Amino acid sequence: MREAQRYAAANWFRDCYGTDPAGVWHAPGRVNLVGEHTDYNDGFVLPFALAQGVRAAAARCGDGMLELRSRQAPGDSVRVHVESLAPGSVCGWAAYAAGVAWSLLEAGHAIGGARVAIDSDLPQGAGLSSSAAVECATAVALTGLYDAAVPLLELARLAQRAENDFVDMPCGIMDQSASLQCIRGHALLLDCRSLVTAQVPLDVAAAGLELLVLDTRARHEHAGGAYADRRRACEQAADLLGVPALRDVTGLGELDRLDDPALRRRARHVITDNRRVQAMVSLLRAGAVRDAGPLLTQAHRSLRDDFGISWPQADVAVDTAVAAGALGARMMGGGFGGSVIVLVPAGQSASIVTAIGDEFRRRGWPGPDVVPASPEAGAHLMT
Ligand code: ADP
Ligand code: MG
Repeated sequence: MREAQRYAAANWFRDCYGTDPAGVWHAPGRVNLVGEHTDYNDGFVLPFALAQGVRAAAARCGDGMLELRSRQAPGDSVRVHVESLAPGSVCGWAAYAAGVAWSLLEAGHAIGGARVAIDSDLPQGAGLSSSAAVECATAVALTGLYDAAVPLLELARLAQRAENDFVDMPCGIMDQSASLQCIRGHALLLDCRSLVTAQVPLDVAAAGLELLVLDTRARHEHAGGAYADRRRACEQAADLLGVPALRDVTGLGELDRLDDPALRRRARHVITDNRRVQAMVSLLRAGAVRDAGPLLTQAHRSLRDDFGISWPQADVAVDTAVAAGALGARMMGGGFGGSVIVLVPAGQSASIVTAIGDEFRRRGWPGPDVVPASPEAGAHLMT
């Protein structure tokens, strides 16, 4: 499988540029177990890397030109001199990759021109973080090609900067950290304030369970108003409470000081979700994965009722999954579309997926795509 993917990416590079790549780098998508919209509130998240991801086949280009092609966007190639990179100079998908070259150069890292051919088995816009996978695959490829030893944490920051300042998308740092720093068999506890990480064992199979990711096939508009609106609401709530970020609110009782009930609910989600991350870490460290289900379902209710960002397909998938025997489930990602994560007893996944598919069809929705999710390695050179 890995070998076939490496081969396919190298072949795509040859189709694009007529020569062999110097290497193929892989950066995974991610699933966030719990901790949603906590990242930009200086809180905690608990993602793990998927087997699915983005491959960047790449080679140096001596004349300083950066050439970008994607097998998933074949008509959309970009050729630009690295020194002319500036926010706004590259549009469309290629901005995610070009932005990384720009942020590396801005930070003083000695990278130069390159030919990059992207190939991916991650659905785009499904909440599995294909954008960060494009950034991180490009980041490890460029730093690999130019022997630039950039610590992973700094690389995550630079990839985030590419998305924030070059693509103009105000995302937190979770996706890039997960794609770069996750290791196999573990979830990554990330403190989004200090950026301190800890690897937390996540062996779902040993507990007789499976994690499934269901792409509900409803698409989100991340850049749109709702994400920015929630960020603003969180900042406003923190301001009114007199704390640097909602992470610093210690008790739910403090929220009584917020007059606006909507603002109170938004803040309550962030505070309770931070607590759910801590509770999940304790369960995983104790080897009690089986008890994690209710935390997921509580997180979904909080995202639906307090944060107001779930969508009809996610609600139906979660309710149907739990009614059909899942231990717990929740929506993932920015909201209003994308994927749902479901914790199921091994052996029951087929019947649970069938129940969800039937319920979707009854409502005239296309059936969800299902991907088994197990914690795999972060970004690396494929050998
Ligand atoms: P998510 O990160 O949840 O998948 P985003 O909206 O943040 O959703 O990022 C999706 C965007 O990332 C796509 O619209 C596209 O611009 C870019 N992208 C992701 N994967 C690829 C790919 N294989 N080839 C080209 N662009 C891609
Ligand atoms: Mg993204």
